[in-house]
Amino acid sequence: MTPDAPTELPPARSADPLSEDAPANPPAPTEIEDTTTADVGDNAANEAADALIDHAEHDPIRPGEPADSHTRDADPPASARAGAVPATQLVYYFGTGGAEGTKDMKPVLGGKGANLAEMVNLGVPVPPGFTIACRVCGDYLATREIPPALRAEVARNLRRLERDTGKRFGDAGDPLLVSVRSGAPVSMPGMMETILNLGLNDDAVEGLATLSANPRFAYDSYRRFIQMYADVVLGVPQHRFEQQLTAKRTSAGVETDAELPADALRALVAEYKALVRAATGAEFPSDPETQLWGAIEAVWRSWTLKKAVDYRRVSAIADTLGTGVNVVAMVFGNMGDDSGTGVAFTRDPSTGERTFYGEFLVNAQGEDVVAGIRTPLRIAEMAQRLPGAYEELLATQQRLESHFRDMQDIEFTVERGKLYLLQTRTGKRAAAAAVRIADDMVREGLISRAEAVARVEPAQLDQLLHPVIDAGVRATPIATGLPASPGAASGAAVFDADSAERRAHAGEAVILVREETTPEDFHGMVASRAILTARGGMTSHAAVVARGMGKCAVVGAKDIAVDDDRRRFTVGTTVVHEGDYLTLDGASGTVYLGNLPTVPSEVVRVVSGQALAAHAPTYRAFSHVLAWADEVRTLRVRANADTPKDARVAKAFGAEGIGLCRTEHMFFEGDRITAMREMIVARDEGGRRRALAKLLPMQRTDFEGIFDAMDGYPVTIRLLDPPLHEFLPHGGEETKMLARTLGVSREELNRTVDDLRESNPMLGHRGCRLGVTYPEITEMQARAIFEAAVRVARRGVDVRPEIMIPLVATAREFEHQNAIVRRVAAEVMGAMGEHVPYLVGTMIELPRAALTADEIARTAEFFSFGTNDLTQTVLGLSRDDAGRFLPQYVDKGIFPDDPFQVLDEPGVGKIIRRAIFDGRASRPTLKVGVCGEHGGEPRSVRFFHRSGLDYVSCSPYRVPVARLAAAHAALAGRAGGERAGAISARGA
Ligand code: PEP
Ligand code: MG
Repeated sequence: MTPDAPTELPPARSADPLSEDAPANPPAPTEIEDTTTADVGDNAANEAADALIDHAEHDPIRPGEPADSHTRDADPPASARAGAVPATQLVYYFGTGGAEGTKDMKPVLGGKGANLAEMVNLGVPVPPGFTIACRVCGDYLATREIPPALRAEVARNLRRLERDTGKRFGDAGDPLLVSVRSGAPVSMPGMMETILNLGLNDDAVEGLATLSANPRFAYDSYRRFIQMYADVVLGVPQHRFEQQLTAKRTSAGVETDAELPADALRALVAEYKALVRAATGAEFPSDPETQLWGAIEAVWRSWTLKKAVDYRRVSAIADTLGTGVNVVAMVFGNMGDDSGTGVAFTRDPSTGERTFYGEFLVNAQGEDVVAGIRTPLRIAEMAQRLPGAYEELLATQQRLESHFRDMQDIEFTVERGKLYLLQTRTGKRAAAAAVRIADDMVREGLISRAEAVARVEPAQLDQLLHPVIDAGVRATPIATGLPASPGAASGAAVFDADSAERRAHAGEAVILVREETTPEDFHGMVASRAILTARGGMTSHAAVVARGMGKCAVVGAKDIAVDDDRRRFTVGTTVVHEGDYLTLDGASGTVYLGNLPTVPSEVVRVVSGQALAAHAPTYRAFSHVLAWADEVRTLRVRANADTPKDARVAKAFGAEGIGLCRTEHMFFEGDRITAMREMIVARDEGGRRRALAKLLPMQRTDFEGIFDAMDGYPVTIRLLDPPLHEFLPHGGEETKMLARTLGVSREELNRTVDDLRESNPMLGHRGCRLGVTYPEITEMQARAIFEAAVRVARRGVDVRPEIMIPLVATAREFEHQNAIVRRVAAEVMGAMGEHVPYLVGTMIELPRAALTADEIARTAEFFSFGTNDLTQTVLGLSRDDAGRFLPQYVDKGIFPDDPFQVLDEPGVGKIIRRAIFDGRASRPTLKVGVCGEHGGEPRSVRFFHRSGLDYVSCSPYRVPVARLAAAHAALAGRAGGERAGAISARGA
């Protein structure tokens, strides 16, 4: 790793462009005095605090509203433009003479309908049609009845469509055919239904054949219509038609559908109808009106298809939105070799490169392209096959992108050489493309920097930081667990930390497989490429440590049965022995057998000095977008890092300090663990002090390295936190050896282990309770910190230590530890003759600490919310075990999300807000941060921004995500007129 931050990744912000709406101090000074000097039990004071807290809870985005409309879409709200049409209007026409809708009417018309209208208004060739408003969908699903007013409006618009096209619905001479397509306010690609060629029957097909002088085309359209309609509306499975189609190809002796002659297709239509009759007991409907209403109802019903419901859940789209229904005059891409159809993106959706990217098919209808039945041609080949239409398409796609000011995903059809656009929408894109397009569009003057920031999803950035399984690989997973730490890695399965280390030192790639990990496994985790556990949740030890190291991890893969003794695990009938190769995908939580190829991330290669930014377009775009995010955000971002190496990585990713250095991890390296164990088994204070004296120089060296790496930035060092038993072996050969090393009997060692055993170690002798009972531990750690600080400061480094006391419940506990730390600081600095400024603060991880924040803040100079433990203690849920049943809670809707991943705002969040308010009331300058896993989770980051925290601290690899999420939060706040820090009592 290079110790220097890349030049294009400035970690610090330049001048704060938000100065005009910088965090306010809303409560008037007198109000603050009134509320905070009062007793906590004072009702008036509590009401005043609650009122201010409620104000701070104001959030302009309501759950379920499309995030688009707030963050990605710069367009004015629909209501601003929709006023031109009556509010009771249910159907909106587009065609000759313009459109009744606009692109700003997505909530009314759905994305497809609004953009079809917009294209008509722009003069882009679009077949005429009309859109049924989305709200009708909800009414229909509630009553299963078609509103009479709607029938009348549809009939009126159908007549208008007939006039526009010069054709008649159901006419035997020149029939009007339509497509019926879904389109929700938020894009849900492929999740709902579509029906093409509607309006055909035995008479109309003849008219179409005569008129087009192409019976083959007419019957091909008819058989497609029956097939689609029967599947979508009548519930006859698609594959039964496919079987008949295949049989027909065989009997006709042809390879593709396009080669089937008219006679064969005519016969196929009869067979399809017989199939429908047999399957449903009724004739296929021949009346176009009946067909139309059947199709409209089917589109509405498709809102409740499982895939649509699942998609909405994953994408946080409200179930109440409903889908619009678009009834559009058909144009035909299957009219011969001068016709065709395709889909295209205005830029490459994988890389973001500015090239027109897509596929098309000659003589085909839309579904052929997506269904993969025929291999489509690259869009560039259209220049030879349909040159006139291609030229027009190139100009049109450019125009659409400029107009919508974003990458568009378009559908088009060419009918006898004439181009029609059937759809345009914002194109979905991979992370690399998202940053590249945002960066390029700023340079092209199309969007502002703030818009560029808003267009990249923070969570997406993960994709850019971790190696991924090569997209071309096809393999079936053997197990699935929680996607604890993204990335992909392959290696030989090993079942204990020592073997992992030994084999890794011998040059082998290994994956550590454990029932669950403990700090004792740390060295094995360091040595492994990835970690797989059978138990544990998203904040289990394995997950937290792996994320901290930027290492791939799948945890809680409950179907695997780990058998340490036989050094293997089983999953179903598969047995994986030590040494067998596995590949893990930590982004999806999947586990594969074998060694699947992975691709290293370009961004990481540049940040770690293995590649040059000049040759890394994705990296450059990534760093630009993040630099712009830094201009926007007000929330600072630090990292959780325990080693100088991690600190350097964090800084290179833009961390503005260390928010949590877990000192216990330092005790596991090399022979330190022996000194630590010596300290634990010592019979008296003298023995403990002798052991601690051995640890002191080692800790001091670690701190020096971290202070050096973080020159000019604060470093928060947490004193020892875990229960001591975690440092001891539990039986077996290791106990025997340790007893020998420590010069104690095995019985005595076992007795110590037994003495330290606790039923609830997470609520036991840990955190500051260790420092209270063994003050010499606190003394040693404080001495190591201050000696390191002075030594490094003497070298000209700007050192800013912040000493953090863990798991405090009462002000007295904090005061006890604070006094030791300050005494040692005075001793060290006095003896060394140099003063280094420092802070002493506390973690807020227990409800009592939060509820007495005003008392604690009288002495504590900062708070850092340990939301892992705070979630555990507020909800009474074990962070290590709850992973086993939490997924069910989420599935059943009892919890909206896993509270260890996404902060529980109404519960834990409320306690946090209260504590910030009370803490700042006692000490207006109180610095407040968060260092639990939530500090790198975008939705939680937004909450922390709104709650007026000074910083979030997260794993180094999540720092870019947090930077971007903090910027999104600031932008959303601006849009909603929200004032960050609204519950702050600072400046009072
Ligand atoms: C926490 O509890 O949120 C925290 C950061 O501490 P740890 O995860 O080490 O318990
Ligand atoms: Mg904790």
